[in-house]
Amino acid sequence: MSKQDLIDWIQRHEFRFTDMAQQIWDHPQVAYEETFASQLQMATLKEVGFKVTTDVGGVSTAFIAEYGIGSPIIGILGEYDALPGLSQAVNAVREEIIQSGPGHGCGHNLLGTAGVEAVIALKEIMEQEGIQGTIRYYGCPAEEVLSGKTFMARAGVFDDLDCALTWHPGTANFVVNMKMQAMVSIKFHFSGITAHAAGAPHAGRSALDAVELMNIGANYLREHTLDGTRIHYVITNGGLAPNIVPDKASVWYYLRASSKGEVEAMLQRVHKIAEGAALMTETQVQHEILAFAYDTLPNDVLNDLMFENMKITGSPLFTEREQEFAQELVDTVDSTIVESSRKLFGNTPDELLPPGYYNLPQLRGTTMGGSTDVGDVSWIVPTGQVMTTCAPVGVQAHSWQATASYGSSIGYKGMHFAAKTMALTAYDLLLNPTFIEQARNEFMINTEGQRYKPGIPDYVQPPAAKKPQNSSSNLVRM
Ligand SMILES: [Zn+2]
Ligand SMILES: [Zn+2]
Repeated sequence: MSKQDLIDWIQRHEFRFTDMAQQIWDHPQVAYEETFASQLQMATLKEVGFKVTTDVGGVSTAFIAEYGIGSPIIGILGEYDALPGLSQAVNAVREEIIQSGPGHGCGHNLLGTAGVEAVIALKEIMEQEGIQGTIRYYGCPAEEVLSGKTFMARAGVFDDLDCALTWHPGTANFVVNMKMQAMVSIKFHFSGITAHAAGAPHAGRSALDAVELMNIGANYLREHTLDGTRIHYVITNGGLAPNIVPDKASVWYYLRASSKGEVEAMLQRVHKIAEGAALMTETQVQHEILAFAYDTLPNDVLNDLMFENMKITGSPLFTEREQEFAQELVDTVDSTIVESSRKLFGNTPDELLPPGYYNLPQLRGTTMGGSTDVGDVSWIVPTGQVMTTCAPVGVQAHSWQATASYGSSIGYKGMHFAAKTMALTAYDLLLNPTFIEQARNEFMINTEGQRYKPGIPDYVQPPAAKKPQNSSSNLVRM
């Protein structure tokens, strides 16, 4: 079996995985509630002979599916959580399927499914050719809250991997050779003394005042942080009524910077701001860490290999109807955003679904604004990552337009392309230990041989899985 045979096998079985991705899109579940997707994927993998381990890292919707014996051990990372409030039909006008319900605005219905598709294809080829080694699919929940993989990583489940591969739906076919930011997600809970806000205001000590003063302090801090740093917050509890001095108030922060060390340093300063706000208002403050994810460490050896396999696979062709739908979606996006999105790879206005491949050396060493819990895995094991065209240029992730595109044939075509790219790359790694050795050497240089230490503190436990919230039906699809 050659690489072409592997591509052909996937091509013949694509419909099965389109169906899986559609079903997950139809049943969007947010972080730690992804029972539908994890059960569907586990059942599919078990049925074809994978050994499945559940409740990985104490997360009930996390699992590992494994096939083969001995080394090398190649892992493919999948995700399947949806985002709140992004319910949307496959339509170029805003049309919620469930009012304020969740939706796959980050395309994780595609992300995990491509991994399942890739490992099942690899199992076929390993059986046919008698290839030695182990392949694993990691079902990773709760990426959107940046913590699923960090709990799995803390449990050591990535430690024996030789290499990890993953991908993400995007608006072009490219290797992710830039970094993404480290991030901490932390809540500050203030407690004060309640009182009648008009009758006895002098008796009150307002927790909301503390939250507001803390935010003012954090906003002043911005000037004195490194370029690219991000500080964002929402007030999750601001009290009950204006005429009651709030004795409880909470604020939720995300702090991002280009390395875990920089985030830690910024966090220490934010703790001082919280303590200062408590002192000023005679309130008490407690904090609660929800997530702490590393920055991503790209691996050029793996990324370059994935790039070569992208070119061998060949990017999908989109029909006239898909191009029209892409245009309709882009027409709903602010033109300045569309224009700035085109700039990254120099796409013309006609290139709504760019067929090209990009591996830009100038992006190496740069850092994107966002974060992912793939970061933790990338500091444990050499990790390769690509993006493929699953939505038109200009459509932003985490938008209703993205949900629409990821539920359409545009998204499914990009997903199959990613599955083939990952399968071909894993095939190379199984057959050629030199690639693994080179990837490992690069990794050792970049990490300076330091062992990964989890960012998430020992006392932080994953949230218990909640009951599934919403599911949708009667969908309009392309
Ligand atoms: Zn996302
Ligand atoms: Zn995502």
